[in-house]
Amino acid sequence: MSYKSEMLQSYFGYSGFLPGQERAVDALLDGKDVLSIMPTGAGKSLCFQLPSIMLPGVALVISPLISLMKDQVGSLVQAGIPAAYLNRSLTERQYALALERAWQGRYKIIYVAPERLESPGFLRFAQKAQISLVAVDEAHCVSQWGTDFRPSYLKIPAFLDSLPTRPPLGAFTATATPEVREDILQKLQLRDPVLTTTGFDRKNLYFEVRRPQNKKDELLSILLRRRDESGVVYCSTRKNVEEVCAFLQEHGIAAARYHAGLTPEERLAAQDAFAADESTVMVATNAFGMGIDKSNVRYVVHYNMPLDLEGYYQEAGRAGRDGSPADCVLLYSGRDVVTGRFLIEQSQAPADVDDETVSALRQRQLDRLRTMTYYSTTTDCLRHFILRYFGETPPPGPCGHCSNCDAGWQDVDITKEAQAILGAVEECRGRFGAATLADLLCGKENERTLRWDLDRCRSFGALAHRRPPQVKDMIRHLVEEGCLAVTEGDYPLIVEGPRAQELRAAPSGFTMRMRPQRPRSAPKAPPAPVHLGDPADEALFQRLRALRAELARKKSLPAYVIFTDKTLREMAARRPATLSEMERVPGVGSHKLAQYGKQFLAAIQE
Ligand code: ADP
Ligand code: ZN
Repeated sequence: MSYKSEMLQSYFGYSGFLPGQERAVDALLDGKDVLSIMPTGAGKSLCFQLPSIMLPGVALVISPLISLMKDQVGSLVQAGIPAAYLNRSLTERQYALALERAWQGRYKIIYVAPERLESPGFLRFAQKAQISLVAVDEAHCVSQWGTDFRPSYLKIPAFLDSLPTRPPLGAFTATATPEVREDILQKLQLRDPVLTTTGFDRKNLYFEVRRPQNKKDELLSILLRRRDESGVVYCSTRKNVEEVCAFLQEHGIAAARYHAGLTPEERLAAQDAFAADESTVMVATNAFGMGIDKSNVRYVVHYNMPLDLEGYYQEAGRAGRDGSPADCVLLYSGRDVVTGRFLIEQSQAPADVDDETVSALRQRQLDRLRTMTYYSTTTDCLRHFILRYFGETPPPGPCGHCSNCDAGWQDVDITKEAQAILGAVEECRGRFGAATLADLLCGKENERTLRWDLDRCRSFGALAHRRPPQVKDMIRHLVEEGCLAVTEGDYPLIVEGPRAQELRAAPSGFTMRMRPQRPRSAPKAPPAPVHLGDPADEALFQRLRALRAELARKKSLPAYVIFTDKTLREMAARRPATLSEMERVPGVGSHKLAQYGKQFLAAIQE
């Protein structure tokens, strides 16, 4: 076995690399720079952690989020790798102690917040220490055109230049559109980097968009079918988190909540309960997640549409990190767009950037919000929509594993109906919005139509066989196609568009993707739970989980830091009888074997 495989096995308990990992590891070991773009869950951390323990000296990992550092350092220490973090969550004493130990050369990996790169105490250390490599985690934070721009990331090249010798630099991110990728290369001044991308597709994830009348009821019905499974519900505001969490608890669901308005203790308690599987559902704002390495999250529901597809894919991607099937459901409503715009307008610009940049940033955010809306309303394959956004060319044909592929959308010729809609717009001389037009065409006698005597129009009831929401969809489609147009302002009116004449003259050929006339096929059966096949194995797996939960409580550690679900399932299936058989179970490794091997072996023998 090579030294590299030995280290991979003994510290991490893996018998091989995941796609893309080895290339990045080898490059850093060779002293080369690396740009690695891998989706969440693809195993980025190992790409810099393994070289860090193999190379002489100490590795610096620049990471934007304090909770992420704490988790990763916790996992490393569990695996027997001396590591620490330096950030403002430490007291002055703790910080001084950590820095002193760093001076003594006791650590192989130190996580630092980017702000540290300007602190004199840290700089003195960095200039004297032997730095094996510098890894920049969440590297997209350096780009003004991405999400999460952090001006302090721009200081990284100057920091590297200030070192007596420049160590190899690795940049890692899960969310880089082509523009952001270019920006990372330039802003971090990567030198002839080895590029590794593993592709963004996460085949085990099922993507779904729903447009429910009542989001709370819809959410409840989703969760009731998955009582024993772990999941996350993301909301756009703290207020929504509070409301939704209380609602779920009232209905007997073990939900916890997480947002930036809670005290650190409350947040920690919620996070621990979720990690230890005491709460099965975490209701949270986007403050929850970076660095949550819980591998058995079976679903992520977005109660509100997020502000951009980067954020959506990252959050949704927290489902199914163990590679087993998982669902990502977005509950969309038109109001989410309004809230999104409000949130963007209210958001604080990063410090030390000029006004012009601020307004450019805001415009970018609004553009991203629009793309997110397109995702939420598209009838195309959802997976392919995402892949294209991240600059990939999806394979031809539908993916077959998203709600749009399953909906059986059909291209329907709507020329006659489109002409009827256009006729109504003409007849009313563009005085009405889409809702009123839809009611008029469907022949609804209600406040809206009767107030304007619309029941006397020629077009009244011309599309009586359709329901108003379908007619509104058609109107939206005709606007997109340029046959109709929408006026600006608070009360957008529907008027003729540049292609109106073309539509009027067409005998046929105006099509629209629609659901088949029979509304909604029967609701999708809940996905079969992942079974081991053998019920005895399942029972053993549950016992091992209970043991893990007990150990986690005793040690105040998140459960997955001890062993992941995947590892426990392997254990249950293989039933190792000796410690050396136990060590061969993927995810065990010699350090964890020494700490926990005996207890788990005993549980299996029982
Ligand atoms: P990312 O940071 O890219 O989101 P992580 O580094 O958290 O991903 O890794 C995702 C999951 O993959 C973790 O559960 C990790 O333990 C597992 N993993 C990483 N490398 C390997 C490997 N070589 N073999 C098996 N599992 C791995
Ligand atoms: Zn699809």
